[in-house]
Amino acid sequence: MCATAGVASETKPFHPSAKCCTYVPELPNYLVGAALAEESSPNGHLSLEIRIRHQTAVTPLGVGVVPMLRLAYEAVAEQAFGASDALRCPHYDESGAGSCGIWKHRNAECATWFCRHVRGRIGAELWAALRAFLKAVEAALSAWAALEAGLPSRELLRCLAYRRLAAAERLSVELVRGWDGTRSELWGTLAGREREFFASTAAKVRPLSLTDVLEVCGAEGRAAAEGVRLAFAQTACTDLPSRLRLAPLRVLSTDGLVATVATYGRFDTLGIATDLLHALLAGGPLALADAVRLAGRDDSVRGLAAVRMLVDHGVLVESHADPRTTPIGRT
Ligand code: SF4
Repeated sequence: MCATAGVASETKPFHPSAKCCTYVPELPNYLVGAALAEESSPNGHLSLEIRIRHQTAVTPLGVGVVPMLRLAYEAVAEQAFGASDALRCPHYDESGAGSCGIWKHRNAECATWFCRHVRGRIGAELWAALRAFLKAVEAALSAWAALEAGLPSRELLRCLAYRRLAAAERLSVELVRGWDGTRSELWGTLAGREREFFASTAAKVRPLSLTDVLEVCGAEGRAAAEGVRLAFAQTACTDLPSRLRLAPLRVLSTDGLVATVATYGRFDTLGIATDLLHALLAGGPLALADAVRLAGRDDSVRGLAAVRMLVDHGVLVESHADPRTTPIGRT
């Protein structure tokens, strides 16, 4: 994703010293505790200790992001994600090969985000389902671990209220005003013992089995886990629709022989031979066999692989129109 000399890129190249780590993760308490106990990563400790010392959005539920800063980030992320080291994650370890300082204990977002996916849209849907599951786990388990580690219920309820405020998607007076309580309202008598508390939450979570975790997460976690199972089953499915049509298409560039088109994902472009693209554009809805013939010419194996690639990337989609009776160009 970074710029390579002599190689044109259709998407804005990633900055080599930030890459996709142009993001500040919200870390649930037990991951903070686990990362702080990780001896192999001193730089990870340091970045976490700085966040804890600054006490910005540090609650017994974990280390978060100040809501106003998160909204500011979201406003510029479309242009600056991957491209500006000004947005670099505080846990990005510049001293080594440019890697994550808390890798083993990164959060759901960091563990499941990829710029490109095997099988395109189908792969992306699997990772999105896993992300939703892990986020449900993080939300439920951090509250459970906080109680288990000794946070009184009254403080936990305030922390949950703060978390709802921090997750707001739109600006509001409440959000601009921010949390107007004191640190002790969130931490109670645990204020000043954050490191010890985070270590304790990690110790509570570490021995849990998946069954234990699902029990803590309740119905939402179990439903999200089922979503992962279904999305995973989909990755093994190689069926193709019997009728296909081109999805609305955005051609990013062409050199005359190959057109680069946008697909399901912002960073996953696809190169298509222009003669194939013209044939698909001219032909209207197609029977699968015709699409395979067009894509592979006389090579049906190649044609099938190409059609599968186009379907997986959302360039060809199922058509409910009859290819024999629909006028050319209509779906
Ligand atoms: S926590 Fe690690 S993987 Fe996530 S954005 Fe930061 S450096 Fe990158």
